[in-house]
Amino acid sequence: MSGPLLPGAAIGVLGGGQLGRMLTLAARRMGYRVHVFSPDTDSPAGRVANREWGAPYDDMEAVRQFARSVGAVTLEFENIPAETVEELSSVVPVRPGPRALRTTQNRLREKEFLKGAGFPVAPFRAVPDRSSLGAAVEEVGVPAVLKTAGFGYDGKGQTRISAPEDADAAWDALGGEAVLEAWVGFEMELSVVAARGTDGSFAHYGAVRNTHDRHILDLTVAPAGVPRGVEDEAVSIAAGIFEELGIEGTACVEFFLTGGGGLLVNEIAPRPHNSGHWTIEGAATSQFEQQLRAVCGLPLGGTHRAEPAAMANLLGDLWPAGEPDWPSALAVPNVSLHLYGKKEPRPGRKMGHVTARAPTPEEAARRALEARGALAGTREPTAES
Ligand code: AMP
Repeated sequence: MSGPLLPGAAIGVLGGGQLGRMLTLAARRMGYRVHVFSPDTDSPAGRVANREWGAPYDDMEAVRQFARSVGAVTLEFENIPAETVEELSSVVPVRPGPRALRTTQNRLREKEFLKGAGFPVAPFRAVPDRSSLGAAVEEVGVPAVLKTAGFGYDGKGQTRISAPEDADAAWDALGGEAVLEAWVGFEMELSVVAARGTDGSFAHYGAVRNTHDRHILDLTVAPAGVPRGVEDEAVSIAAGIFEELGIEGTACVEFFLTGGGGLLVNEIAPRPHNSGHWTIEGAATSQFEQQLRAVCGLPLGGTHRAEPAAMANLLGDLWPAGEPDWPSALAVPNVSLHLYGKKEPRPGRKMGHVTARAPTPEEAARRALEARGALAGTREPTAES
């Protein structure tokens, strides 16, 4: 790229979900135009973008036109076909770049990369077909978890194997190339969200603590409250991964913290992450603005956190009998509400989140949970809704 992409330029976003929406809002605030490309129309991101391209990722004619209409492309969804990324890359810079995407699109490739580069991961074995599962279970031991090698997120495409006899049923449940991973009796789940600029600069938000419910992120608390040495180690591993993969943009490294205080990398997300949503109100520069800055070749922003923050996800399950009680949630001090504009509140679907700030991480978590709890009382929808 000859120079940074400046306000007024158009950036392209692959994917139309909430991550793309929050990125689009950050970009438009800074005077950029945003084109969203996804197979959907009227998507959460497309609704706030300047232009929405509703076409399949393998519609190469649309992909080429989209590429010509923007100055750089980034993504909010990593499972973009390799040919699409190649086609785009022949016209405009695509960030985070092909190596990061190729590696993180497939769990097996990701784990082999991590292990090969010396980053700590739980023991695993490739399971290319059913016949190799028995030997893998013997080598890895039980309990273990069988995960599809290809596309999977939020615990989709994984089954626990508690005893060798479970193996066949687990294979039937997934079917297809997989990875068998030792079950980690972790003490805590952590993540590090960070960004790397086109000049190689690196800025991180420290380690945050994540709790999951049904394999879906439920609550993030920043800071994680782990010993300094653990946090430094997590950040240093994340920085090493960003460097090795040549990531340009915001990404997240998820970790298990084991009882012995050791860290294992669970997963890399090559885009803004749910555990970084708190940065919108809680940090000097949000993970989305950071993504924009990196994609445009601009200096990264400061990541200072003025006070602890916590984020609780709002899933579709909160809408069982009508509209959640928004006023009661917003009555909780220092709580911010984000809704993604999704029409259908299905169980397990991420509809929005609340972020709370407070003088201590415990109080921030308490406020976020109190606000979410307050939503459960139902109200009649208003005439406009
Ligand atoms: P993933 O989609 O691989 O990030 O998994 C989603 C969640 O499932 C993780 O955040 C953990 O809570 C749980 N999980 C996944 N793999 C393991 C494992 N090997 N041991 C224990 N829990 C796991």
